Amino acid sequence: MKSLEEYLDLAARSHGHMCPGQVLGVRMAMLGMAQLGIDDPIKHRKRLLTFVEIDRCATDAVSLVTGCRLGKRSLKYLDYGKVAATFVDLQTERAVRIVARDDAREKAKAFNAADADPYKQQMEAYKVMGDDELFTLQRVRVKLRPEDLPGRPRSRVMCDKCGEGVNDGRERSVSGRVLCRNCAGESYYEVVKAG
Ligand SMILES: [Zn+2]
Ligand SMILES: [Zn+2]
Repeated sequence: MKSLEEYLDLAARSHGHMCPGQVLGVRMAMLGMAQLGIDDPIKHRKRLLTFVEIDRCATDAVSLVTGCRLGKRSLKYLDYGKVAATFVDLQTERAVRIVARDDAREKAKAFNAADADPYKQQMEAYKVMGDDELFTLQRVRVKLRPEDLPGRPRSRVMCDKCGEGVNDGRERSVSGRVLCRNCAGESYYEVVKAG
């Protein structure tokens, strides 16, 4: 593992700025790796899978430290709105879920209280506060399906309605038809003009 300072440096560069979320994300991922007994996440990246529960600052830092990426299927995003992540060791099937404590923000105020800038003060506090002050930790089990794992696509079918290809069993079966999620009524968009 690199040091906290080294990770924060890299995180700031890749995320574009330094912020309390970066500190939380880096520390969360470092704690997760320690809990799983993985000392070099990049070397062991094939073993690692990370679920993140929010699409905000901390997630970039979690991805940076673990080397888990959306494009590699090793980073899974769940839209729970929580500053939390679950780190899974695929080799041992051990998993730990770590969530940022809501009272950490309040506790942070006691650190370097002389600092006039509350944003910077919070950020500096998050660097030195104890793991147990920042996070709550759970041992968890994550059920993973083969079609959720990294590696080559397990399947690819064409949607009966729109003709677009669908990987890894994400199709739906509706009244005997094979449909993509969009055509099955789970769409997040509305076509304004066909290309
Ligand atoms: Zn940020
Ligand atoms: Zn379709």
